[in-house]
Amino acid sequence: MQSADSQNTPKRPRRDGSPRTPPDSPLADAETSPSHDLDPDYRTWGPEQVWSFLRRCGFSDSELLKRCREKRMSGSLLPFPEDLGISSHGKKMKLLNCIQDTMKVINDPIHGHIEFHPLLMRIIDTPQFQRLRYIKQLGGGYYVFPGASHNRFEHSLGVGYLAGRLVRELSEKQPELQISERDILCVQIAGLCHDLGHGPFSHMFDGRFIPLARPEIKWTHEQGSVMMFEHLINSNGLQDVMKYYGLIPEEDILFIKEQITGPPESPIKDASKWLYKGRPKEKSFLYEIVANKRNGIDVDKWDYFARDCHHLGIQNSFDYKRFLKFARVCEVDNMKHICTREKEVGNLYDMFHTRNCLHRRAYQHKVGNIIDTMITDAFLKADDHIEITGSAGRKYHISTAIDDMEAFTKLTDNIFLEILYSTDPNLNDARMILKKIESRNLYKFVGETQPMIQRIKKENYEHLPNEVASAKPSDVELEAELKAEDLIVDLFQEKHIPQGQEILVISPFVPYYHLQTPCKIPVPLRLPSLNQLLSSWLKILVWYRALHSLQFLPSSLEAS
Ligand SMILES: [Zn+2]
Repeated sequence: MQSADSQNTPKRPRRDGSPRTPPDSPLADAETSPSHDLDPDYRTWGPEQVWSFLRRCGFSDSELLKRCREKRMSGSLLPFPEDLGISSHGKKMKLLNCIQDTMKVINDPIHGHIEFHPLLMRIIDTPQFQRLRYIKQLGGGYYVFPGASHNRFEHSLGVGYLAGRLVRELSEKQPELQISERDILCVQIAGLCHDLGHGPFSHMFDGRFIPLARPEIKWTHEQGSVMMFEHLINSNGLQDVMKYYGLIPEEDILFIKEQITGPPESPIKDASKWLYKGRPKEKSFLYEIVANKRNGIDVDKWDYFARDCHHLGIQNSFDYKRFLKFARVCEVDNMKHICTREKEVGNLYDMFHTRNCLHRRAYQHKVGNIIDTMITDAFLKADDHIEITGSAGRKYHISTAIDDMEAFTKLTDNIFLEILYSTDPNLNDARMILKKIESRNLYKFVGETQPMIQRIKKENYEHLPNEVASAKPSDVELEAELKAEDLIVDLFQEKHIPQGQEILVISPFVPYYHLQTPCKIPVPLRLPSLNQLLSSWLKILVWYRALHSLQFLPSSLEAS
């Protein structure tokens, strides 16, 4: 189907002046597309707009253009080339392709009317991308915050849009960076696809469920995203479409994947070595837009801060539009980084403040997290009895669907309802837990503590329930026996959070630039109070799995 599109329409030129670009074909990038400056709905166009659209599409026939003006032809006639006097098959196809290629506009509650290039629309309109409509952004958080019903789908659109805003802003302000239209599209695709690998209930899946169901593997949703992206491209024949819009799949698919997961692991830890393969070191700043591994300031967070705040009913004090205005690429330590003006430090503090509020009030909400734990328990009990068909008819379970992207495409929050509505006796235990969630009969909260130590090593996590169970003072009589397997110990700590909380690690070094000293000499500013803002993040919460009320609360827990 794609090749039919590409056969009849001239190849699009790229702004980066690639030699493969035919010299006299019409421009079709985002700013110079035939519909640029025109209302996205061609049916609303008047005769002058139709005339200018036809010219931009490469119709130079003066008779046709004259006729359009004289007969005052409107845009609603464009899908009917014969009514415009176009009779040749080739020209008809050319016009129809031109109409299809107009930018699409989506009305987003956070960013307003946002435009997407036709290539991005081709990616969005695939089963792998549409799957994100059925994955709650905040997992079990929806059971606490009734407004938090938003899904990964709209967040991904938002990140794709913001990635385009930031990269274009840099390109317009600093033409010397030589950001090509190809670069812009690749950054936007990475933004759109960065969360394709999330499983049911988002972080619950890669943070809680997979580590328990498959302790032998280390799996992250970012790994899932690159696998799903590859599957999306291949199973929808999008390599040809990428080529059609001027991309070079061999290089650009790699570049897109690198933006999502970071550079490949290097055995030699040499900071000066450029590890990425998709783009050269001169374009290092492009890797700081979607997922900034350096300081965590990226468009992914801008979108979810704004979107989550909107849906949770929490104030968002960070204004990404100001950041966009003042963003500039500067050379720091022989590497090009995205920097901001020194006077914008307050805005950045607001960003980390918003992040802190969201973590305290929503992402680490006690009840939201215990509901995630209960869903995880239900999935673990159901795992062996759920069958998902993958490629070549092979069968997978919830925990093994990550090994086959065809199976994983079918795994969404829907599995919750499948268990809840199933009559399979094998799913009784799992179903009972989900029913308890619906009737708000939740695991009981025992207590929480913030120990003085900075961190608990991962290998020690599994001993914690035992330690809590044995903390019972010997002189207290219990009605029920306190067993380690009935206790859930949840840890929140900065970096390597075991239970799936996404907490970024802030580098105290955020590059700034001064207006007086042009961007070649950025002034690194250390922000110690940012760390203060994020301190005391090691927190331990204890829950009791048995659903009857607890008769005893170990006093040692409260004091420790
Ligand atoms: Zn995201």
